[in-house]
Amino acid sequence: MKGAHITPIVKGEGVFLIDENGRKYIDAVSSWWVKIHGHSHPYIGQKLEQQFSELDHIIFAGLTHPKAVELAKRLVDNMPPEINKVFYSDNGSTANEIALKMALQFWHNQGVAKTKLVAFEGAYHGDTFGGMSVSARSTFSLPFSHHLFDTLYIPVPTEENIADVLREFEAILSGGQVAAFIYEPLVQGVRGMVMHEADHLSQLLKLAKKYQALCIADEVMTGFGRTGTLFASDQIEMKPDIITLSKALTAGVMPLAVTACTDSMYNGFYSDERSKAFLHGHSFTGNALACAVACANLDLLESAEVQEDLTRLAGLQKEFRAEISGHPKVIEARQLGAILAIELSTTENSGYYSDLGIKAYVYFLERGIIMRPLGNVLIVMPPYCIKEEDMAYVYEQIRSFIGEL
Ligand code: PMP
Repeated sequence: MKGAHITPIVKGEGVFLIDENGRKYIDAVSSWWVKIHGHSHPYIGQKLEQQFSELDHIIFAGLTHPKAVELAKRLVDNMPPEINKVFYSDNGSTANEIALKMALQFWHNQGVAKTKLVAFEGAYHGDTFGGMSVSARSTFSLPFSHHLFDTLYIPVPTEENIADVLREFEAILSGGQVAAFIYEPLVQGVRGMVMHEADHLSQLLKLAKKYQALCIADEVMTGFGRTGTLFASDQIEMKPDIITLSKALTAGVMPLAVTACTDSMYNGFYSDERSKAFLHGHSFTGNALACAVACANLDLLESAEVQEDLTRLAGLQKEFRAEISGHPKVIEARQLGAILAIELSTTENSGYYSDLGIKAYVYFLERGIIMRPLGNVLIVMPPYCIKEEDMAYVYEQIRSFIGEL
């Protein structure tokens, strides 16, 4: 985009990024929500090097390798007991694309006419055609609108509308044609960290299951501790049939994604008839370096030290939310686990290209903080290992920015 700010970064070190002039920045957005352990973590580097010396990449059809197996086992051990199968790819949009294809083909293979897809209003599930199709129509997808397939949308539940949303959802489901419901559990990321209650989502999932619609939890953003638990789905009573993961799966070091599904879904493809197979694959499926890095990420995440970091960060975010909530320029501050979003009031446009968002980006950049607002919503999502004094500096600059509005 003309006029966009581009800062050449030459080094990453923990929570800091260093530009070509030696200027240091706090990465308060974890480089688009991926770098949960910060930059160039030595333990991950060591595991990556070790894997490279053994095996870097192989065709993942007819062949497999130990790190792909280890990672799959460790992931499903932490998922609902019915979810036991893992399909690898390399980015969040593709993980969702695969989930949608799996859901549609699952019904097709059985000769059941379930072809409709349901998503939340304001959803974001990726930039590929399937991902765009189940996302809210927006500036992102406008030029492609003639080529997107139809999706049915239901409002995100709140205390006020839950009864209506349940009624609306049941009216859609009762037609018997819904193949799947895709949702970002607890937090709609790109919408601006819009949150809903676990119990409300659970009621919707119960309804989906009553009408045999498959439930797809898009945990691309929420996975790996961000919401306070390993997966956001851990906080929700009703469990999905498919979970998609990417972003922090490798702690933001290598591109990798997972679409995990239940045994019963898997069995819908396992057949002597070749046409029933899931004919989908990518050159870099199951990349061994990425799988090794993802295992190293799990080693770190499971450690007491990182769990303490995460609890501390969540506590700081909660406190700052309480403090900033009453400010006259703050419409709403939302927090869950290590996520903090501050929605600011503005008389200008509040969409993705909000002038306030661009102004905020430059303001924080000049003060040594990488912050990527979503429209008029400030997003604070640093690596879990950020020190209390660095967090205090970020909060101080937010206070100043809001104070100057
Ligand atoms: N789903 C969600 C919930 C996301 O937040 C994102 C990315 N912001 C995606 C899917 C797409 O992931 P990727 O950018 O890796 O394609």
